[in-house]
Formats: sequence, structure tokens, C-alpha cells
Amino acid sequence: MTKFTDLGLSPKVLKAIADVGYDTPTPIQAEAIPPALEGRDVLGIAQTGTGKTAGFTLPMIHKLARGRARARMPRSLVLAPTRELAAQVAENFELYAKYVKLDMALLIGGVSFNEQDKLIDRGVDVLIATPGRLLDHFERGKLLLTGIEIMVVDEADRMLDMGFIPDIERIFKLTPFTRQTLFFSATMAPEITRITQEFLQNPTRVEVARQATTSENIEQKVCCFKAPNRKVEAKMKRDTLRAIIESQSETLTNGIIFCNRKVDVDIVLKSLKKHGYNAGAIHGDLDQRYRMEVLNGFRNNDIQLLVASDVAARGLDIPNVSHVFNYDVPIHSEDYVHRIGRTGRAGRSGWAFMLCLPHEQKHLDKIEELVKHPIPRLDAPVVETPKSTRAPKTDKPKQEQKPAPQKSAPAKQDKAPAKQDKAPAKSADNNEQNNRSKKSRNHKQEPKNTVKGMGDHMPAFMTQSFDFVKKDPAPQASSNDDADATDDA
Ligand code: AMP
Repeated sequence: MTKFTDLGLSPKVLKAIADVGYDTPTPIQAEAIPPALEGRDVLGIAQTGTGKTAGFTLPMIHKLARGRARARMPRSLVLAPTRELAAQVAENFELYAKYVKLDMALLIGGVSFNEQDKLIDRGVDVLIATPGRLLDHFERGKLLLTGIEIMVVDEADRMLDMGFIPDIERIFKLTPFTRQTLFFSATMAPEITRITQEFLQNPTRVEVARQATTSENIEQKVCCFKAPNRKVEAKMKRDTLRAIIESQSETLTNGIIFCNRKVDVDIVLKSLKKHGYNAGAIHGDLDQRYRMEVLNGFRNNDIQLLVASDVAARGLDIPNVSHVFNYDVPIHSEDYVHRIGRTGRAGRSGWAFMLCLPHEQKHLDKIEELVKHPIPRLDAPVVETPKSTRAPKTDKPKQEQKPAPQKSAPAKQDKAPAKQDKAPAKSADNNEQNNRSKKSRNHKQEPKNTVKGMGDHMPAFMTQSFDFVKKDPAPQASSNDDADATDDA
């Protein structure tokens, strides 16, 4: 087995790796680091969770340790599709570069230009940026890219999804032809292949196996059902999600709930909070500081459930997530692989549940084709919502029942999760949340097939088999469930 000491990294980098506690390089590291150290271009076909971040940052640190930065002329550039991902690369960088003197700047939206300008003016060795913000700085005449020796493109397939490919091409053209390029993508769409052919020179191709096809420690389930109409459908989805969450209380330590649309991230968050769950949300329209706060809260276990869109959650390194819930079937089948790859990491057990309405069946078919196995159907989730943990209707302040504007609702409601816990006006709700959080972690599961909880508002479909596609349930009208009623407005 390859050891870190076999890869040719400097003692200072090896010392930092030892401090982080890594024993052996992951396959992508073992294969990508030696050619990167030789100065070769690398095309890494790997997704998050494979250790690819260290795969490109370690050789960069090793190489940049020699030489010095000049004002406004960074020596290396890492492009990442989202602010969170860029921030995460920066965090990794700081860890691995702790014994080497290198200056770094993180150029992401939501942070003042002035601060970033000051850093660039002083001269940085490493620039970590999202493409849009980088070009903003360039266009303001504050940055020269002609000193770039190493350029990294991370998560190129996501760049493609987000429409960043023209920006990436432009940035490539602003950097010297002699640069070294390290390029990472989970998939090789034709457009990605074209870019690599145009901008990489005779790259070493390194490919690591897909997580979804190899990870046997993730228990996957899909719950297919249909509803009589659109309005009930949305509510049924939320009810089903909660029922599944409750059924998992024994193993659920924390979970990510993925929605396809930002508006649904907001709605699901609001609904979960109303039902007393300890939840937060991230998506691209939310303020950057808020997103970071939520993410930190989730990492520190202050937030148990994270509702997220794909873009915001892409590549985020959140170790030890026990559950992934696909509130929607992802439209791009690769996203299923990315989403469920958030759980079952490093040999741990993981659970991945997905809700599927009839109109999503076509996407489910594509996913099953991609992962090359049928996803087992979920028959009847065990529903457990002890009455005592539900938000009591009468205790609610009146304004809480009003629908808040979608976009700003979560940001306003829980701008600072820690602070909110202290707010007296919301203490009842927060006690609910805390209770819920503790109960979800601690309380014992009832015998299987016992359908419990939901108070007096148990929707009829919850008591039936979940093979709704065939059985056509007769759910209760949403107005029966006051706690969720405003969501449907
Ligand atoms: P990444 O794919 O870069 O997002 O990395 C996924 C996770 O693997 C992160 O939590 C890293 O800290 C961790 N990791 C990276 N390299 C190693 C290694 N050689 N041994 C153990 N864990 C690692």
C-alpha cells in the first residue's frame, strides 16, 4: 500500500498531514500527487468524499513553498463553483500549509471587495475563488493572472450545471499557457471533455470509482406515492418526510434533506420548524454569512437537519452524516450519487431515503440505470411523532401562523441559530426544538409496523401501505393539519 512518505512530498507537508491524522493516501491522492509534483497536468475524475481536495492542495503547497508572491500577481488559483466549496478548500489549505509560509486570499461573493483588494495588493501565493468574483476583481483592474503557475478547477461538472463554463474558458485564457492545470470533475460530459482537450496538456488521467456503485454501507430506500391533487401532494410529501424521519430516530444523528428547488428548501425548513424539528437551510439565494452560520451549526451538531439545494451543498465536507433524505428525486441522476455520498463515508453506516411522485418516476428510472441496481421500495415507514413534542397550536404567537415571504423567511427566522435559542419570544418553540432533538436521538423505537403519533391529525395515507402508485390513497385535506397549514398558502 502506498504511504504518504512515498509520494515525494516535503517534510513540512508530511508533518501537517500527520497532524491532521491521515494514515494513508486515498486512491486519488496516491495517483494524482506524484504527477502533480512532477509538474504534469492532471485530469481527476472523482467526486467529493474521495480526498481530492488534499489531492490538489498538497502538491500545490509543496511546489509553492519555493518562491515568493508579488503584489497583485497570485501564483496559483483554485476555482470552485460555490462559495461554501471555495471556503472549504481554503480551510483545507490552511490545515495542510501550517508549516509553510504561504499567503492565501479567498475571493467569494458576500464578502467586501475592500478586504479582498488589500490582500491581493500585498501579494498572495494562493487565490481561492468562485469564477464570478474572480472576474469581478479582474475587471476592476485589481488583479493580474499572468503570474499563475498552477491552476486548479474543482467540481467542473457543477461549473457546467451552473453555467460557468464560459467564465472558466475566459479565466484559462487570462492565465499563462505555461501554467500547470489540475482539473477535477465527477463526470465527463462532452462540454467538460472539450474544455480539457483545449486547455490541458497531455494530462495524467486519474479516475476513482463512483461512490454509489461501490458503497454498500448506505441503505437506500425510495418511497413512491401519488396524491389526488397538487396541493395535497406537497403536504403529503412533507408528512411522509416527517414520518420517515421519525421512523429513523434510533439511528438518525443528523441528516441532510435535499430539495430540487430553492423555494422548496424554504418551505420544507419552515414546515420542519413548525413541527418542532431542529433544522436549518442553505441555498444559493440566502445571505453568505447566514449560510456559513447554518453550516457551522450543522457541523457542530447545533442543527440536526439541514435542508439544502444541490448547488449549495455540493462538495461540502460534512463528516459523519447519518441520513440523507431526497425530498425530490434529483433531475440529474449524477446528483443522486453526490447527494447520497454525504452519508456512509469512511466505512460508516448510512441511510438514504427518497420520496418519489409519479411525475418523478422517469428520473428515478435514470438513477437506477446509473447506479445499476433497483433502489428498494419503502413500504410503510414507522411513524413516531409523540404528541408532547409537537408544537402546541394554542401556544403559538399569532404572527407565526402567517406565511412569511419565502425567500427571507429562514434568514429572518433563524439568522443566527445560536442567538435564536436565547430569544425569549421564541423560547417555547426552542424548547420544542431541543426536546425534539433529544428525543430523536434518544427515544426508543416502537415495534415495527406500529403507526403512532401525528396526534389527532394522522393523515389517512400514513396508516396504509406506501405502495401509493397502485393503491391510490385518500389523504385528509391539508386544512386538518394546522401546524402545516400555512405552508400550503
Ligand atoms: P474531499 O473529497 O476532499 O472532500 O475529502 C473528504 C474527506 O476525507 C475530508 O473529510 C478529508 O478530511 C478526508 N480525507 C482526505 N484525505 C484523507 C486521507 N488520506 N485519510 C483520511 N481521510 C482523508
